[in-house]
Amino acid sequence: MRICRYDEGRIGLVEGDLVYDVTAVKDRLPALAWPVPPGDLFIERLEELKPAIQAAKAGASSRRLSEVRLLSPVATPSKVIAAPLNYHAHVDESLADAQIHNNVHIAHYEGFKSPVAKFGVFLKAATSVVGAGEGVKIAFPGRRNDHEVELAVVIGRRAKDVAAADAMSYVAGYCIGLDMTVRGTEDRSYRKSADTYTVLGPYLVTADEIADPGNLDFSIEVNGEPRQRANTRDLITGVAELIEVASHVYTLYPGDVILTGTPEGVNTVKPGDVMHARIQGLGEMDVAVR
Ligand code: MN
Repeated sequence: MRICRYDEGRIGLVEGDLVYDVTAVKDRLPALAWPVPPGDLFIERLEELKPAIQAAKAGASSRRLSEVRLLSPVATPSKVIAAPLNYHAHVDESLADAQIHNNVHIAHYEGFKSPVAKFGVFLKAATSVVGAGEGVKIAFPGRRNDHEVELAVVIGRRAKDVAAADAMSYVAGYCIGLDMTVRGTEDRSYRKSADTYTVLGPYLVTADEIADPGNLDFSIEVNGEPRQRANTRDLITGVAELIEVASHVYTLYPGDVILTGTPEGVNTVKPGDVMHARIQGLGEMDVAVR
């Protein structure tokens, strides 16, 4: 099942190039009172909402996917977790390019089995999340603001100290993630957390539709020019192990997002550019930069 959020917070069932308005299923969610528990209530209840979403399609109005303003498919993630340096060719380009490492964020990891083993994972502000239709607003004009296209994993249920062998049952679904990044000396959590610097979309594809998240072609173009092209089989630390690493430190809540890392080819964007990202099985999206 493919589920989007659009316009002023409507919920859409995506089939082909149509969006069916199934917003009414929101009424099935319980009313919340302070203090509201962490996590995204819609994602938490997604399994039980699926039949209602399918049923609501009958009689629902529909619009073209290309004509709606797409919001983040996850409304309220409690956190966005991201993996640094998780493709070998990106490790190599990071070592070779002083604009990427700035003599601060050095990519070598001798003595460790992986960059994630050395550097761990990091957090992006949840307030950085937007959908494809909202676009990216450059927060650091005149500096190198890069696209990083990544497979995004959406957690479906509370997870703590989950072993990799059990991890995939905690996944609600997947989408495309853009981990927008300004290059420089500041901490990652500052350089990657400006408003609009996490783009999720175009919609959530539920986990049952993706047989192997470790074998997906993906790419990004800017103004039609190819920039990054890779396959998730080249992830150094895969999805299941990332969930193990993240859930060892953080309690993961429904709707939490793990950005799995970007391949080689990161490069800058500027206002007026349009990014076009796609991941096999997860759709494609245009994201404007302003
Ligand atoms: Mn990244």
